[in-house]
Amino acid sequence: MNESDFNLKHQNQNTESKIVASLERISQAFRVLLWQESKEYALSPIQVQVLIFLLNHSNEKRKVSYLADEFNMTKATISETVKSLEQKNLITKEYEPHDTRSYIIHLTQKGKEIADKTSYFTREISAPIQNLDEESKENMLQSLFDIIHHLNKTGVITIQRMCTTCVYFRPSAEGKEPVCGLLEKVLYSEDLRIDCPEHQMKA
Ligand code: SF4
Repeated sequence: MNESDFNLKHQNQNTESKIVASLERISQAFRVLLWQESKEYALSPIQVQVLIFLLNHSNEKRKVSYLADEFNMTKATISETVKSLEQKNLITKEYEPHDTRSYIIHLTQKGKEIADKTSYFTREISAPIQNLDEESKENMLQSLFDIIHHLNKTGVITIQRMCTTCVYFRPSAEGKEPVCGLLEKVLYSEDLRIDCPEHQMKA
């Protein structure tokens, strides 16, 4: 790539660069929407993201080290976030019997309620996607999977819980659809998962 995606002369004649610039604008929208939601509850954006993550993931993922990888932050920063959420009575810590430095983070009732309400912050992004026809949605999903897969392979994104990096994923062969070996089902493009609770990373 010789030209920047943000060089307007190049961008205006180049579909790929327009797609990159559009993704950048959408990421800006995520930040704005998350910020608005956070302000309403006097929380920081990362505090809201952590609450939403805790609401939707199982015990083994509700730990400081996992959250640090998930949000690409240091353990010290996540520990501070958790401390602040604890002071606001939104989470509790369950220390592990075999290691008193490690703990599982649980939402309190108040934490669950705020996590649930704030988790709708993407509604204005979902609205136009809902209006797409099925084929456009499937194509879009497949393209986004490919981008995320590339970002994972090149080390930009460390955490992945999507089918293509899962040990149970059997890629398509001879024109057949891929299969999930765990759920024993064919994975049509609309069945591919971006955040699967059963995901096991390929070695
Ligand atoms: S276990 Fe989940 S992530 Fe793995 S292939 Fe099956 S559906 Fe996909």
